[in-house]
Amino acid sequence: MSLLKFPIKLLGFLPRPIIKLVAFKYVAGETLLAAIDKTKMLNEQGFVGTLDILGEAADSEQKVEAFVSEYKELIKTIAHQKIKGGISVKPTAVGLLISYDYALNQFREIVKALKDDLLFLRIDMEDSPYTDQTIKLYTELKQEYDRVGIVFQAYLKRTWHDLEIIKSSGDVRLCKGIYLEPPEISIKGKNLVRQNYLKCLEYMLTHNFKIGVATHDDYLLEGAIDLLKKYQLDKQRFEFQMLYGVRTQVAKKLVREGYKVRLYIPYGKDWYAYSMRRMYENPYIAFHVTKALFWDPIVALITRLKE
Ligand SMILES: Cc1cc2nc3c(=O)[nH]c(=O)nc-3n(C[C@H](O)[C@H](O)[C@H](O)COP(=O)(O)OP(=O)(O)OC[C@H]3O[C@@H](n4cnc5c(N)ncnc54)[C@H](O)[C@@H]3O)c2cc1C
Repeated sequence: MSLLKFPIKLLGFLPRPIIKLVAFKYVAGETLLAAIDKTKMLNEQGFVGTLDILGEAADSEQKVEAFVSEYKELIKTIAHQKIKGGISVKPTAVGLLISYDYALNQFREIVKALKDDLLFLRIDMEDSPYTDQTIKLYTELKQEYDRVGIVFQAYLKRTWHDLEIIKSSGDVRLCKGIYLEPPEISIKGKNLVRQNYLKCLEYMLTHNFKIGVATHDDYLLEGAIDLLKKYQLDKQRFEFQMLYGVRTQVAKKLVREGYKVRLYIPYGKDWYAYSMRRMYENPYIAFHVTKALFWDPIVALITRLKE
């Protein structure tokens, strides 16, 4: 058993305060005010934000409507405080588990709130049972409001075809994809996913899409910049997108070099599930948890004994 794999298995058993210690590097806070403060600070450093209220898969109208109200409050605050940023919303958080039409109406409520200040809505992409409906939501909403975007996942075999279908009406955040998908529909293998990512990106660059290059992978970051050079495109032709707290130095360097960088900034009382997912995804974070749990108290004790 590797040193880094050991703590991952333990994560589910760790007390929440310990998880919180590490998680809050990746979550902007539990409250709207905390998230807005962080976003303002990030705006001052040259980043644009996409605020996301944590919470997934709402299975009752009551939960959905509470969530939509939270989003409306967020939208009002972004507009009022002149924050440079928009919002990201997961379809299952706003009613897709209940019905397609119900989710569409909830999205319409959100869009109504965005319209006054022309703020942007990104519809996050969840796992494959929801892909078709998410694309349909996007297509319908896009006809009603231009400032709507979708996400495509380079690990899905269908993504290439989906891009061709939505063609140049597309405003797409391209990511690798985070869910575990069956091999029949997904590309397996790091390098194959990377190849498909760059193939999709090249298609979007040459077909007038608006593009978010969402990755922290050096290979893809460099690949994206190479594509700009290949087609002699301006640095602002796309924006890089990264998760708040992940590879911060790389994100800052991109801003210094003149690229637009948007950070995905999650916040909310449901921080625990989100953080656990981030930790399972990256063994290094689990390593930090172990360090906070075991090593830091030992160092503190030794320091105290020495004093
Ligand atoms: C802005 C944004 C929005 C996203 N939206 C969606 C979405 O709607 N649907 C979806 O399925 N997926 C989404 N994702 C997740 C994405 O699909 C990948 O799972 C995730 O970005 C990791 O892939 P990577 O390209 O960064 O490459 P990786 O090879 O996974 O990462 C490269 C390096 O970045 C660092 N790193 C990456 N992820 C983390 C992390 N979580 N914590 C700490 N370090 C990390 C590590 O050092 C790693 O070696 C989004 C990602 C971003 C950046």
